[in-house]
Amino acid sequence: MQVEIITIGDEVLTGHTLNTNAAFIAEKLTDIGLEVQFVTTTGDALAQMEEAIRMALKRARIVITTGGLGPTEDDQTKKAIVKVFKRNLIFHENILQDMKDRFARRGIEMPAINQNQALLPQGAVFFPNKGGSAVGICISEEGRTFIALPGVPREMMQIMTDEVIPYLQGLEVGHPHKTIKLRTTGVVESRLAEMIDQDLNLEPGVKLAFLPAYSGVDLRIMAAADDEQRASEKTLTLERYLESKVGKYIYGKNEDTLESVVGQLLVDNDKTLAVAESCTGGQLGMLITAVPGASRYFLGGLVSYSNDSKTQHLGVDPDLLEKHGAVSEECAVAMAHGCRERFAADYALSITGIAGPDGGTEDKPVGVAFIGISSIHASYARRFNFGVSREANRARATYAALELLRRDILDIK
Ligand code: ATP
Ligand code: MG
Repeated sequence: MQVEIITIGDEVLTGHTLNTNAAFIAEKLTDIGLEVQFVTTTGDALAQMEEAIRMALKRARIVITTGGLGPTEDDQTKKAIVKVFKRNLIFHENILQDMKDRFARRGIEMPAINQNQALLPQGAVFFPNKGGSAVGICISEEGRTFIALPGVPREMMQIMTDEVIPYLQGLEVGHPHKTIKLRTTGVVESRLAEMIDQDLNLEPGVKLAFLPAYSGVDLRIMAAADDEQRASEKTLTLERYLESKVGKYIYGKNEDTLESVVGQLLVDNDKTLAVAESCTGGQLGMLITAVPGASRYFLGGLVSYSNDSKTQHLGVDPDLLEKHGAVSEECAVAMAHGCRERFAADYALSITGIAGPDGGTEDKPVGVAFIGISSIHASYARRFNFGVSREANRARATYAALELLRRDILDIK
């Protein structure tokens, strides 16, 4: 069942507003087994909007728009609907009353301009808006379903979740399907693809997508089938195959994050953690403490940026710094070791690197980082080459540190 999403608004077209509405709607629709084939964006001009809607109705069974349902002059979506569907606008007393009540509750008199929001296309179904004055509009015609939603993300999300999804499910338009996400880290997308592709034989209706981010590459499995049981079986088959090929890089599934998985490992093993960060400036500590309940295992962190602070607070030998530099394997090991001792932690992680854009040398170009780990068993560090962007280098180093700990605990080579 093909769907087209149309996002309306000059501010989206110019890039001033990031089109998060399209992403939200597309994900919701995909979750119920509908296939989004086009996402179109148009400006506020009536002619453009009309053209986009007509075009969408030609190629999709379901068309969903967001934006331009407000009361002001630049909100033209209703006019476009009137033109395309050739329907009159009918005044709805109850909708006007709802709006007046809403304003009254806030102690504001309703501006006259809002009255036109009670004018809605004849024969449409309306989806109530709990957070605003623009109701969702749904028109069914010639086997097509057309839905217009407001642009304000919070309002759109509420109507989409509470009204549109149950409505579309009631039409029984989607194929039963199942989606799962396997989360990998510590391996680049192309290498992952190489390892997976060898004898990959996807069943009909099964799709595999590679989704790279700083935290790693997610493998998203989507399977469609005639019934849910069969869709689940198909995802499971592919999941098992992927585990057999790249299992050691898979740290979790669906909502798992690397920081939550590592946190759980520490809890399960009854161990504590401290961190010493140079080039990441506290990002690792921030990520670790983003997990609720991190206080059960996280003792603390030190942002140790200058050489002096590495010596003073972590006990890194000045001679070592002189000889090898702050961005070195030796320094990373000394930082981790000093950190573990000072915090009296079971594990300590350290990060020291050249985030860029300046400061690189031939030997140690921008993007080089050393990540250290210290435990009762051993202290060691690994060298990484992340890339050229400061933001990417800092983010990747943070996740690489967590992965180093995960592998150490699970003894993954
Ligand atoms: P209003 O009643 O507030 O006028 P509306 O339905 O007319 O609502 P718009 O005026 O198009 O909606 O957009 C309202 C606000 O919602 C915009 O200023 C923008 O911040 C946000 N918005 C609009 N479209 C999108 C989109 N596609 N993605 C994310 N945010 C959006
Ligand atoms: Mg508006």
